[in-house]
Amino acid sequence: MQLYNKLSAEERAALIDKSGERRLTLSFYQYAKIDNPKIFRDHLFITWNAMDVLGRIYVAHEGINAQLSLPANQFKAFKEHLDTIAFLKGVRLNIAVEQDNKSFLKLKIKVRHKIVADGLNDETFDVTDKGIHVDANAFNALIEDNNTVLVDMRNHYESEIGHFKNAITPDVDTFRESLDIIEADLKEYKEDKNLVMYCTGGIRCEKASAYFKHKGFKNVYQLEGGIIEYTRQVKEQGIENKFLGQNFVFDDRRAERISDDIIANCHQCGKPFDVHTNCANEACHLLFIQCDECKEEMNNCCSETCKEIHALPYEEQKALRKGQGNSNDIFKKGRADHLPYKKDLRNIFEVLKAKQ
Ligand SMILES: [Zn+2]
Ligand SMILES: [Zn+2]
Repeated sequence: MQLYNKLSAEERAALIDKSGERRLTLSFYQYAKIDNPKIFRDHLFITWNAMDVLGRIYVAHEGINAQLSLPANQFKAFKEHLDTIAFLKGVRLNIAVEQDNKSFLKLKIKVRHKIVADGLNDETFDVTDKGIHVDANAFNALIEDNNTVLVDMRNHYESEIGHFKNAITPDVDTFRESLDIIEADLKEYKEDKNLVMYCTGGIRCEKASAYFKHKGFKNVYQLEGGIIEYTRQVKEQGIENKFLGQNFVFDDRRAERISDDIIANCHQCGKPFDVHTNCANEACHLLFIQCDECKEEMNNCCSETCKEIHALPYEEQKALRKGQGNSNDIFKKGRADHLPYKKDLRNIFEVLKAKQ
């Protein structure tokens, strides 16, 4: 029985091109008690592999978090399969705003300790006591309220290219880090302000809202289905869109354009630009924003050093890398001292002071 990928990304890309099929990119998550994630994982792999599903899926005792693509003509069968699983019956599927047949090139289903790396000990608070879920309409009304503090629960490289008007965008590298910073900076507002939060697809807010309630925030709200579902409702119902720029996504599309506003800059020359790239030097791979002119001049690299290394014959590059781990761990994502125009995002206190 095949339980793992057999095709390389290149082989898969060629197959997708050849088939000419239209693929749908979507995501969903569900917190639910799964007794044996390993067996569940294998069951999903066998079923979904047969439907030509590709994507990155995490399964844990606490539930499932899935980002994937599938041939559009398999959508019905896929949905029917989900409905055979009790806790996934009728689950909300976040369909991508911008489609790309090659958003994913492998099917990876992994068993993890948790479905979001939140660093929280779930035994210490009631994870089921969540914030109030609001739809796009209610969210728009809430964020116009003077008594609301709107917080972006994502990391700096995500909010840098797009966020809601007037949102606080903590300058953080990880979700865990953001929780403490937000709690500390907003502690005087626990009783009287509305704490309204959002993230990409809603999953981070599921835990964060419960955590903030546990920490004493009285009025906690979360955007149901995140930016993806908000955008869908805005389009479908003709509601005013209050999201500026691009929605960062964790697949090969990297982002979906939600509004025409360009709120970020090229990290190398400073001109308005909001498309991320990875440094072409295999030993770096830094995620950063680079405009087309800089891309050409720098050969898609983040620094002169990387450009020099990247220009070396492949064998020499490999020899240089030998014995060195990849320098770009998650904490360096989108950050490097040599990028002059990398924005420091707004400090929470400054934003609140400016409001008063
Ligand atoms: Zn530039
Ligand atoms: Zn680099």
